[in-house]
Amino acid sequence: MPMRIAMADLRHDRYAPFDSQTGLFHAFGALRSEADVIAFANRFGPLGADLSTAIVNVVREEPWKTSIEPYWAEPIDLWLAEACAMARVVSLWELIQARDRSVFQVRLTRSAARLRIKTGLTGDRHIAKDWILAKKAEKPDLFRRISEKDEKDWPRLLLEQWVNRGTGGRTDFGLGLSEKSLAAAQTPRGLIGALWQQATLAIDGHVDFLQCRQCRDWFGISAEHARPEKLFCSNACRMRAYRKRKKGRKESALT
Ligand SMILES: [Zn+2]
Repeated sequence: MPMRIAMADLRHDRYAPFDSQTGLFHAFGALRSEADVIAFANRFGPLGADLSTAIVNVVREEPWKTSIEPYWAEPIDLWLAEACAMARVVSLWELIQARDRSVFQVRLTRSAARLRIKTGLTGDRHIAKDWILAKKAEKPDLFRRISEKDEKDWPRLLLEQWVNRGTGGRTDFGLGLSEKSLAAAQTPRGLIGALWQQATLAIDGHVDFLQCRQCRDWFGISAEHARPEKLFCSNACRMRAYRKRKKGRKESALT
């Protein structure tokens, strides 16, 4: 029996974790263990959308014990697979943004084989070319679009493909009534849709991410407001760290 996360109840409380968690998709991509998943789920809720499965426990011998109402659960392995998909997007995006001329490695997991590709965005062109030639036959939809001239675009095409696999089918587009007018609205399905939407918007806006020195949450800083000295996600965390430092100083002064 696979491990699952069960939802405590089906009440849908309206909540907006992204108001304060500007880098939540980053934190999601860092989940690697069952304990990580449970801690994240306890804090932010189930992923929802296509990851929720209805579970019924049928008691065949004592049918009166069978509950007609199913409960909703999410397999932990599906959580981890989604987290890995997000982690690959985050690291590929970081490599693209860094515009690093040195050789880098991109790991691609395919259903059976794990390919380890060594190439550079601008360096080691011949390795990238070899790889493209080798893979053209396998992924015609992706490589059809890479001409000989702009083969350095393949990391971005790959990123496009990875992100769209995450967002696919997890956003509703339609009218939404807000404040006093009807407006076109893109509504993510469940937390998983919202995480992928947040990642997409971060890439679109060239947002950089830092980890808060105090609470360890990830937060975004847009390129134009980027200040290298920014260490904390909020003023509250800055004050907490300041008080901690002050307390530490006082204690060392006493001894
Ligand atoms: Zn913080």
